[in-house]
Amino acid sequence: MNATDLERRRQAACPPGVAVQTDRFVQHAQNAEIWDVDGRRLIDFAGGIAVLATGHRHPRVIEAVKQQLDHFHHTCFQVTPYESYVTLCERLNALTPGAFEKRTALFTTGAEAVENAVKVARAATGRSAMIAFSGAFHGRTMMGMALTGKVNPYKAGFGSMPGDVWHVPFPAEALRVTEDDSIKALEQLFKTDVDPRRVAGIIIELVQGEGGFYVAPQDLLTRLRRICDEHGILLIIDEVQTGFARTGQMFALEHYPVEADLMTMAKSLAGGFPLSALTGRATLMNAASPGGLGGTYAGSPVAVAAALAVLDVIKDERLIERANALGQTMVDRLNSLQESIASIREVRALGAMVAVEFSDPATGLPAPEIAKRIQQCALEKGLLLLTCGVNGNVIRFLFPLTTPDAVFEEGLALLEEAVRECGQTDRPR
Ligand code: PMP
Repeated sequence: MNATDLERRRQAACPPGVAVQTDRFVQHAQNAEIWDVDGRRLIDFAGGIAVLATGHRHPRVIEAVKQQLDHFHHTCFQVTPYESYVTLCERLNALTPGAFEKRTALFTTGAEAVENAVKVARAATGRSAMIAFSGAFHGRTMMGMALTGKVNPYKAGFGSMPGDVWHVPFPAEALRVTEDDSIKALEQLFKTDVDPRRVAGIIIELVQGEGGFYVAPQDLLTRLRRICDEHGILLIIDEVQTGFARTGQMFALEHYPVEADLMTMAKSLAGGFPLSALTGRATLMNAASPGGLGGTYAGSPVAVAAALAVLDVIKDERLIERANALGQTMVDRLNSLQESIASIREVRALGAMVAVEFSDPATGLPAPEIAKRIQQCALEKGLLLLTCGVNGNVIRFLFPLTTPDAVFEEGLALLEEAVRECGQTDRPR
């Protein structure tokens, strides 16, 4: 069935709340390429939203999954445990930054890891309030949505949010918010709205994913750590999008001189199989009572098998180095494009987490229509791109770190063409 017919069926069968970014229906995919039902090829610079660090159908991931399927595919870990779950927890305890005793619990989605981070933080501190940042994205569940710092489309129409969640602005030059502004807002919050002795945790993405790929300044984290220590608040790092080599370190936190109390992970962890994890200090993680954490599918043996293979591939194929190399190449190319394209306001990156922000050069105002136009233009040329940002004026790149040089180069050339053809404003610089 062709894409036009499938699109008609989609609209008749699925609600618009589950929005789709393209009208291409996938037929098959391999590494950094996708072929749709009409035989059109796409170079994948979206990576299933940061899920495919190891690419589509990495042979070692597929082999691990097939082997697991030949043994068992579900028991529920809480009913009949299995070794691979424990092995993955051991590996994550060792891999995540922080030389202290840790525990890990596995879940299914990123939002679920976030929900459980809040539960653990509350159980461990006996406090309820949570602080997050504007522009943050932490998931579509009730608490994930409450912590998320963007109304449209994530909160609009969904009624009152779970209580005791507070936001402070995330610092970003492009948003004209300084680090001092963020810290002052936090101090103000403690004076006017919430007693810091009631705050269980502060949750932060080190590079805001959906929010626009703004990188948290190092000093912000040092200051947050100090404030957390002063008031007995837990520092929770959401590495759902930044984890697993994406930023040129195994975890973005390795770029920072602080330790986290809890860390959430998902996406590239299992290379496309639904799996998430919450890792943290043993003393905190052990606070929830037996049976309080978990889930029927949490830590599915199939996804766990994939994750163990993903961790091996990241190491054996040196994907951390690869992330830095590919990220740098892309940044260089975007920087040279910026010289001739006036609407490019900023190119920013941490490793392979690269983004380009568009604004109207005359007014300086965000230009979401340009980002959208380039995305569409690139799609027609065979390149899959994602937008993001509180204002929707950012294109972000989340290509597989296994993308071969030739395919990457082809993708960059298509990107340049799309930006040149569709990234111009009518106004001169
Ligand atoms: N946290 C962050 C930082 C994310 O980027 C996302 C997903 N975009 C989530 C949480 C939620 O993950 P999921 O969609 O798997 O629930």
